[in-house]
Amino acid sequence: MKKNLIPSLIIVIVIFCFLNLFSTEKPDLEMFEGKLKIMGGEWFIISDGDFFQLNLASEEFLKENNIILTSKEQFRAEGVIIEEVINVYRIHYNDSIIELRDISGNPLWQEEKQVGHFHVNPKKCIGCRLCVSVCPTDAISMVHGRAIIDADKCIDCGICENGNGNYKGCPTGAIKKQE
Ligand code: SF4
Ligand code: SF4
Repeated sequence: MKKNLIPSLIIVIVIFCFLNLFSTEKPDLEMFEGKLKIMGGEWFIISDGDFFQLNLASEEFLKENNIILTSKEQFRAEGVIIEEVINVYRIHYNDSIIELRDISGNPLWQEEKQVGHFHVNPKKCIGCRLCVSVCPTDAISMVHGRAIIDADKCIDCGICENGNGNYKGCPTGAIKKQE
C-alpha cells in the first residue's frame, strides 16, 4: 500500500509545481481616494482612516501637466500599494486621467508587462542610483528620488536585484521580482 502511495504523491507534487509555474497572478491597479497631506517634502494620503505615503511623479511632471497639489485637498489616483507606500501610476485630476510616463514617454503602468518583472519598493529605495548605472537596457530611471523600472525595457536579467561584478545588488533589498 505504502509503495503505491509514494509514486502517486510524487506525481501530485510535480503537477502542483508545474501548474504554479504558469499561474502568475496579475497585480491590478487600485483606486485610492482621500485627503492629501505633505510632511517632510513627501506626499501622503489619508484614505478611509489609513495613512499611506505616495510615490508620486516628479515636480517637473506635475508642472508640465498643470497638476497643483495642496495639503487637505481631495486626491484620486490609481496605483499599487507596496508596504504602505502607494506607487502612483495614474492621477485623476480635474476630470482628466493623467498617465505617469517615463522619460521616453512610455506609460509606467503597462498591465500586460507587470507580471514576472522587477519592481522597486519605494519605501526601501534610498535613491543611490547604483541600479540605474548597471542596468544593461537603461530600464531604470529615477522618479522623485526613487528608482522605477520600465517594464517595457526590462529583460529580466536580475542584475539590479542580485548584482554583477563590483555591484553586489541593491544595497537595501528594494528590488524584487513581482511573482
Ligand atoms: S540600488 Fe536600490 S536603493 Fe539604490 S536606487 Fe536602485 S533601488 Fe534604490
Ligand atoms: S532586471 Fe535587468 S533589465 Fe530589468 S531592470 Fe533590472 S538590470 Fe535592468
